Amino acid sequence: MTALLNADLHCHSVVSDGTLTPEELALRAHGNGVQLWALTDHDELGGQERAAAAAKSLGMAYLTGVEISVTFIGQTVHIVGLGVDTSHPALVDGLRQTRGGREQRAHEMSDGLARVGIRGAFEGALKFVGNPDLISRTHFARFLVETGVCKETNEVFRKFLTEGKPGFVPHRWASLQNAVDWITQAGGMAIIAHPARYRFTANEEFALFTEFKAHGGLGVEVVTGSHSAAEYITYAEAAREFGLAASRGSDFHSPAESHTELGTLPFLPSNLTPVWETLSSRIQ
Ligand code: AMP
Ligand code: MN
Ligand code: MN
Ligand code: MN
Repeated sequence: MTALLNADLHCHSVVSDGTLTPEELALRAHGNGVQLWALTDHDELGGQERAAAAAKSLGMAYLTGVEISVTFIGQTVHIVGLGVDTSHPALVDGLRQTRGGREQRAHEMSDGLARVGIRGAFEGALKFVGNPDLISRTHFARFLVETGVCKETNEVFRKFLTEGKPGFVPHRWASLQNAVDWITQAGGMAIIAHPARYRFTANEEFALFTEFKAHGGLGVEVVTGSHSAAEYITYAEAAREFGLAASRGSDFHSPAESHTELGTLPFLPSNLTPVWETLSSRIQ
């Protein structure tokens, strides 16, 4: 299959920290000309059946998806899994464990915010949560925007929710090896999400790509909503250097918050192997 495909293989619904339902996302993707779509909620497969059914009713090709939170050398890294069997026990159990600490973490985040005078953040964030198993920093950000503490979610992250800030609570997610194994065992393809977003040194980034590859990881996001045009080139080169297939996805969360719309990114550079070539037998 060609690189010139309007594939959008990364976005979020109310089942994690998006604001649209799987059906609304499917309609929006289809309306924007998406030809191959995947819903990739954080640490959750709960929206997959609805997403696949909605895509099918629109005649849009679909790949199952998930975005797994990983801790790698002290930082959070996201690994996307595409084409997974959504009932595979290793993946289902692994995701359940990964989601496990979120509620406790949210209480601690709320305590941290209370110490700087922001009260009731746990209950406030909960109002924005579509899935009680998946309270995320994004839900806290929406609460702080609603109460007027900040103008937009980006500002909340900068002032309150990132390392060293009052609402930040360090958390240990899945290991890189486990996340790649769960995806691979479930018949899917593991892909490094938005690599330019991490604060790694060149050596640390090299270690991430090398270890990911050694564990059986097969792809990297090259064209994604949080990459600049220069970063498309950087990670196209990384894909070639490490022999990884390339993915494309907006990481769309919400019409009000996301600056990249579903299905509107540039095409993948044509000298890369698109992930959908490797995944052709998994497309529904
Ligand atoms: P969590 O998994 O609870 O740590 O939340 C991570 C989510 O927060 C990411 O998937 C993004 O949706 C969102 N996020 C992280 N950093 C920012 C930022 N600077 N601005 C807006 N949203 C962010
Ligand atoms: Mn998110
Ligand atoms: Mn991510
Ligand atoms: Mn994402």
